[in-house]
Amino acid sequence: MRVRFAPSPTGSLHIGSARTALYNYLFARHSGGSFVLRVDDTDLARSDGALEASILEDLRWLGLAWDEGPDVGGPSGPYRQSERSRQHMAAAEHLLATGQAYRCFCPEERLEELRRAALAEGRTPRYDRRCLALPEREVRRRLDAGEPAAIRFRVPAGEVVVDDLIRGRVVIGADALSDPIIVRSEGLAGYNFASVVDDRDMGITHVIRGDDHLTNTARQQLLFEALGGPAPRWAHHSMVLGRDGGKLSKRHGATAVGDYRDLGYLPEAIVNYLALLGWSHGEDEVLDLDRLVAEFDFAKLSSSPAVFDLAKLDWLDHERIMALAPEEHERRFAERLPAGTPPQAAAALAAAFQPSLVRYGDAPAAAAAVLAPPPAPPDLLAVALAAAPQLTRMRELRAGAPEWLTPAGARDLLATYRAWGKERGIGARDLLMPLRIALTSAQHGPELPFVLAALDRETALSRLDLTLAGNAAGEPTPTPGDQP
Ligand code: GLU
Repeated sequence: MRVRFAPSPTGSLHIGSARTALYNYLFARHSGGSFVLRVDDTDLARSDGALEASILEDLRWLGLAWDEGPDVGGPSGPYRQSERSRQHMAAAEHLLATGQAYRCFCPEERLEELRRAALAEGRTPRYDRRCLALPEREVRRRLDAGEPAAIRFRVPAGEVVVDDLIRGRVVIGADALSDPIIVRSEGLAGYNFASVVDDRDMGITHVIRGDDHLTNTARQQLLFEALGGPAPRWAHHSMVLGRDGGKLSKRHGATAVGDYRDLGYLPEAIVNYLALLGWSHGEDEVLDLDRLVAEFDFAKLSSSPAVFDLAKLDWLDHERIMALAPEEHERRFAERLPAGTPPQAAAALAAAFQPSLVRYGDAPAAAAAVLAPPPAPPDLLAVALAAAPQLTRMRELRAGAPEWLTPAGARDLLATYRAWGKERGIGARDLLMPLRIALTSAQHGPELPFVLAALDRETALSRLDLTLAGNAAGEPTPTPGDQP
């Protein structure tokens, strides 16, 4: 079994293309075959080396390692289509020599006219085969005179039946297939032809891609037959749609794999999510790559379009975060925080938020709510001010403790504070809520031991002092932007 993922380096890796790559990867690993990465860069004007590099990086980040490709080489190289022109031309010559292809001298303006006329009459635009009728002598003469000519494939009459591993038998009427240009007049092979020649030369046994390629597949199957080989097996998976039923695009939000990386999603959550989009599976939804490989089966893939559901991705990402080892989670959390964040603070906050974080991109805001809170609104400040004796006691306790508390140390400190309050008949709420407001300006947030462990002694004391000073002086907490 040999499969390939064949991105065009004309944009960054789209989430839908990543799903195509993933299915190819899963099938290759499931069947013990090879996963080939081929760069379809025949559109030289729009192809870009930097985009190629970014696509490879995104695939690596997702964990989809390939066995052969432009960077690692392999027995079927080169793995960039632009470097395979010789093979494309040889195959085109073969089709010309066997009468299955012909030269076309029609200028772009004429083709455009044909297109316009067809559309105006409600017909599918098709090439009218004017150049197929040219006598051999005239073709020679015009070529010798240096007239530019494309090469067209002569599509045989009759419908094309594509036997698809996901969709079953798909019939494509020959009317849909105009004689495609296989080599453009500048001498470069077009996508359909280059793809067939390369798939043949690379021994590709299964072509797995989106069902937006079905019409191309009909042309390609005919081209495989014309070149005298069997076509590979086809598997066309459904497309990913946005909530409104349109093809997933920028207006639905992030569409590039790199966008999701920047937002701080885990690659394993994305892979998990993409695999299960349009895959009928049991109760178990949190699956790692190994499980996905083991369970991959074309029969499980739906032929109906799948709707991209960000809430589901968020849920999977959250599940993945909760399942990470605490040290791994802490590393990922800390690397998102502003430079200079004390490691003790990062560690305490990482632990605080592991049970609730949805994506690592939320880490800076979660941490800032503790490390750099806004001033407390007056009503909350009043709650804190009403508890001056408690805050004064906490001030004493915190002043006598180390510069940084561990969460366990903070828990002990709070236990002492609560015991003190209990002796005086002060309930937990009247002890803890004023303290939380004094430290974070908010009524809700991570557990207090983590808050105390995230703030060094000086910071904790100064926040308590500020609140207490507000009490003594009856002044509201200054807000940033208040100039003296
Ligand atoms: N370069 C094509 C694309 O990006 C490849 C399609 C195929 O798998 O043949 O859509």
